[in-house]
Amino acid sequence: MNYNITLIPGDGIGPEVVAGAVKVLDKVAAKFGHEFSLTEKLAGGIAIDATGVPLPQDTIDAAKAADAVLLGAVGGPKWDDQPGSNRPEMAILGLRKELGLYANLRPAILFDELKDACPLKPEIIVGGLDILVVRELTGGIYFGEKGTKTVDGEEVAYDVEQYSVSEIERIARVAFEMAQKRSKKVTSVDKANVLESSRLWRRTVERIAKDYPDVTLDHLYIDNAAMQLVRAPKQFDVILTSNIFGDILSDEASQITGSIGMLPSSSLSDGGFGLYEPIHGSAPDIAGTDKANPIATIMSLSMLLRYSLSLAAEADAIDQAVETFLKDGYRTVDIAEDGKKVVGTKEAGDIIANYL
Ligand code: NAD
Repeated sequence: MNYNITLIPGDGIGPEVVAGAVKVLDKVAAKFGHEFSLTEKLAGGIAIDATGVPLPQDTIDAAKAADAVLLGAVGGPKWDDQPGSNRPEMAILGLRKELGLYANLRPAILFDELKDACPLKPEIIVGGLDILVVRELTGGIYFGEKGTKTVDGEEVAYDVEQYSVSEIERIARVAFEMAQKRSKKVTSVDKANVLESSRLWRRTVERIAKDYPDVTLDHLYIDNAAMQLVRAPKQFDVILTSNIFGDILSDEASQITGSIGMLPSSSLSDGGFGLYEPIHGSAPDIAGTDKANPIATIMSLSMLLRYSLSLAAEADAIDQAVETFLKDGYRTVDIAEDGKKVVGTKEAGDIIANYL
């Protein structure tokens, strides 16, 4: 099969970690007989230098024309004096808006080999962790009406949490479909004991659940969910939640898995299209030193193959190669442990690619 992927390496360690993912993709192509047409485009600081803006139209057009997008990271001190609307990070917000990316998927995976990096007690995480947070990305309080006014002579500020049925329906379907490809359990997180918008959320999720009888659904209030995530994280498979609750829970989930260099993410729109990127930034402190961990980007590529191209066996092969890399005792600097073999970004990419 032929697939078109737009690559946006970006700034700092972005190009270094994307290069590792490309090596892995080349091996996937050879092993499984696919052809991947890769188009490289600019975004972030490098785009400001070349074109004056962080997200050139040409990049948007290429992303829209592709089957999926793989992004490294954007930003860095060089562009700190840019005005807010022209900062490198605006490229990410612009891509979300232009591409209609309403579903943010953040897996929190703790490999058994890295369990010492987890701040939780060992007995809580026996066998590792594999949780997927599905966060609504374009609605809720971050996009609701907001402002300030004077009430009884006092300044008052407000941000409105608002969801429509259709917004809830589409993100709920993403969560149930993801659960069908995993352990078939969705935990919907809301605050339905207090918030009207959460009550609509819960009613709508329950109705959509009827279309997915093979998936178990339960509900937790956000305060309880935050507690359960550190008390008994193995109870979770897919966590479905709103923009603001997902923002908080996905950061909490990522912290219980150790290094930021290990975690991928994807942002999806309708029809399976998605943008895939590591959760970390451009790490200017280690850029150009061959110290970056490419695994978050390689795992983002795995998600791209699984969710946008429906290539599950190919994605499984990448996940397996990463696990073998860790089992064989290889580590990048950020996850280094005594007695393990520490390798640089390039060598890590080569070794993982060769396991395929
Ligand atoms: P960061 O994620 O870039 O770095 C935080 C720390 O983690 C640093 O010490 C860094 O060396 C380390 N780190 C990050 N990725 C790593 C990897 N793959 N391997 C090993 N170590 C890694 O966050 P920051 O320092 O707050 O931000 C740096 C720049 O990145 C800023 O300009 C910020 O705006 C931008 N940023 C971009 C994105 C994105 O492109 N989506 C996300 C977050 C931050």
